[in-house]
Amino acid sequence: MEKSVSMVIDCPQCKGKAVLTESIIEIPLFGKSLFSNLRCNKCNFNLNDVSSDSEKEPFRFSAKISSEKDLTVKIVKSSTSTVKIPELGIRIEPAPASQGYFTNIEGLLNKIDESISVFAFSEEEKDAKNLRKKLLQKIQEAKNAKFPFTVIVEDPFGNGALLGKKVKKEKLSEKEVFELKTRMNFLEH
Ligand SMILES: [Zn+2]
Repeated sequence: MEKSVSMVIDCPQCKGKAVLTESIIEIPLFGKSLFSNLRCNKCNFNLNDVSSDSEKEPFRFSAKISSEKDLTVKIVKSSTSTVKIPELGIRIEPAPASQGYFTNIEGLLNKIDESISVFAFSEEEKDAKNLRKKLLQKIQEAKNAKFPFTVIVEDPFGNGALLGKKVKKEKLSEKEVFELKTRMNFLEH
């Protein structure tokens, strides 16, 4: 069951007319979630986000990915979520312009892959190019579960989650919530 509403608002990038569409979608094991898409045809600005429909407790979710089956663990990533894969040295910080999505671990790796690939690196130094190439190779191996790695999702507002049997869930302490929120404010300004 899906209900969508659309409205026209100012594009945050070009101040033209952008269409904001919001839908409430039920995510199994997580609950009702608000999916939003802001799209501007004039400048091609396109931002997706997902957040919980209700107040949720702040949690840290983690999952050890060690087989192809584990790649089907689901992830709810909000603009307020921090996503970490320590074995790949990857850390996605929360930001208002950070894309939100609902996918699985394979989908997450595809999105990371894309975002690393689309950057213009023509001016970059040889060392940086090599590092990026190595990272893309490592992501490719991770997509085939060639080595075990950990995915961690932290969200001070409870908007983000990992969903699956192997997922560990622990409540964030007040101190951790404070630090995540402070970091978020710092990154926004
Ligand atoms: Zn625009």
